[in-house]
Amino acid sequence: MSIEAKNLSKQYGAQIAVNSLNFSAQSGQIVGFLGPNGAGKSTSLKMLVGLIQPSSGEAYIAGKRVSADSTELKKQIGYLAEDNPVYKEMYVKEFLAFIASIHQIPEARIQEVIQLTGLTLEQNKKIHTLSKGYQQRVGIAQAILHNPTILILDEPTSGLDPNQMEEIRSLILSLKPGRTILFSSHILSEVEAICDRLLIINHGMLQADCSMDEAKAFPGGISQLFQEKTKSK
Ligand code: ADP
Repeated sequence: MSIEAKNLSKQYGAQIAVNSLNFSAQSGQIVGFLGPNGAGKSTSLKMLVGLIQPSSGEAYIAGKRVSADSTELKKQIGYLAEDNPVYKEMYVKEFLAFIASIHQIPEARIQEVIQLTGLTLEQNKKIHTLSKGYQQRVGIAQAILHNPTILILDEPTSGLDPNQMEEIRSLILSLKPGRTILFSSHILSEVEAICDRLLIINHGMLQADCSMDEAKAFPGGISQLFQEKTKSK
C-alpha cells in the first residue's frame, strides 16, 4: 500500500511547521525521513496517520484521503509516536492484550507479536522495568498488533545505545516484507543501514527525495548530502 503527501502543510500561528510536502512511498520500501530537530518530521507523520489535520494539502494512504474519521483506513496504519506512549505500569503482555481488546484483535496474535518483537522473556515484566530498547520493542509491538501494511515510526531508535539501536534496526528490517515503512530519524548511519529511500526535510520543506544508492553516490556521501540540504540559509 502506498503513502502519499500532496502539498501537505501545517501552520501554527505565524510558524509554518510543514510547507507543501510532496512525496510518495510504495509497498516493500523502507523510507527514511531525515531532518534536523524542528524540521517538521513529527508534524508530517502525525498528518499522515490522521492524528492532526493539515492546514492545507492532503495525505493519502492506499490512494484514499486520510482524515480524522478515516477509521477503516487507520486499520491499515501502525504508528509509533516519538515519546512511545505505553502504559509503563502495565505488564508487557497485559498492555498488548489491552490494546488488542480495543481493536478486537484475536488473542493468538498477541503471542505471535511477542515472539516477532523478541519480547518472549519480557512478557511478564512491568514495562517500566525494561531497558529503553525493550520498551521501544513494546511500542513497535503495539504498532503491529493489527498487522498493518503501513508502518510509521517516529524516531524509533532515539535515546538507545548502539547495541539497542542495532536490534531495533533488525526488527524494522524484519517487518519490511509486504509493508511500506516510513521512519523519521536524525541519525545518518541508521538511515543508511536500512533504508531504500531517503527524504530530507528542513524548515518544513522537502530538500531531497532519492534512492539510497543515489544518496551514497553523492560526492562526500550521505552526510555531505545531509549537510548541504540542511545548512541554515
Ligand atoms: P521534528 O519532528 O523534525 O523535530 P516537529 O514536527 O516536531 O519537528 O516541529 C516542527 C516545528 O513546528 C517546530 O518548530 C515546532 O516547535 C513546531 N510545532 C510542532 N508542534 C507544534 C504545536 N502543537 N504548536 C506550535 N508549534 C508546533
